Amino acid sequence: MAYYRKLNDYLKDKYGGRVQKVAIDAGFTCPNRDGSKASGGCTFCNNLSFSPYAMSKKTVKDQIEKSMAFYKSRFKNIKGFLAYFQAFTNTYAPVEKLKEVYDQAMSYDEIIGMSIGTRPDCVPEEVLDLIASYTAEKPEVWVEYGLQTAHFRTLRAINRAHSVAEFVDAVLRTKRRPSIKICVHVILGLPGEDYEDMMETARLISVLGVDGIKIHPLHIVKHTVMEKQFLRGEIKDLTIEEYARLAVDFLSILPKDIIVHRITGEASEEELIAPHWCLPKYKNEVLKAIDMEFKKRNRLVLV
Ligand code: SF4
Repeated sequence: MAYYRKLNDYLKDKYGGRVQKVAIDAGFTCPNRDGSKASGGCTFCNNLSFSPYAMSKKTVKDQIEKSMAFYKSRFKNIKGFLAYFQAFTNTYAPVEKLKEVYDQAMSYDEIIGMSIGTRPDCVPEEVLDLIASYTAEKPEVWVEYGLQTAHFRTLRAINRAHSVAEFVDAVLRTKRRPSIKICVHVILGLPGEDYEDMMETARLISVLGVDGIKIHPLHIVKHTVMEKQFLRGEIKDLTIEEYARLAVDFLSILPKDIIVHRITGEASEEELIAPHWCLPKYKNEVLKAIDMEFKKRNRLVLV
């Protein structure tokens, strides 16, 4: 029984067993940090994670092989792996360099596809063509666009350094290559946004007809601009109950068959400032609160 369509279930149905994402840090950076779009990064983004010392020194091959071995020892019945280019902006490099990195990941038989996290202002046509080219052999190819909010003033306030129009443009251009699946990342509880603002973000995503969604509660981590704003009392954090209601309302606006890549978010004890329930140990509690909220509303169960 499920109240929404989870990525794991979608993959399981499609491939007949567990498909595990393996997270890869391919050593890319971000145009919102290196000055080409802006500097300082998004106000929720951990500055220290951009230190060259924090960037991965492991090769893509190393990371994939170690992760696959780890998951194989942990789970039986793994049908395949999805290479997840997660860290920073994974289309922010010359197309030749991107090809080299994506080729490495896709060369493994057990890798059934990939998911590429990026910004909507970093997908020129030749990059989308390159990404689409992999789908002929391995059709499970996703691009994950960080949007966070569909409100320009909020985007400006959190220093995203891209616009809503750039997001719409990226989605429409990606959809011209229908073999690429699109996932959108949003944050609920951003400073300055009220309930209707967040629901309007859901409406925009809904009309664009994307394939997947990743929803995070705003959580404040150390070494960010938001840490300072929070400590000055300028940002209010959500309770679990508030977040569960918002997440359910948000998801209820989206098509029922949208694939939910994530519906909460966590940070480690060393990193997290607030809210406390974004520690990994509360993850099940958050998921339970969301399910309870769906149950209360008698949402139809998906099959
Ligand atoms: S959140 Fe993403 S876009 Fe923003 S600074 Fe961090 S890596 Fe760059």
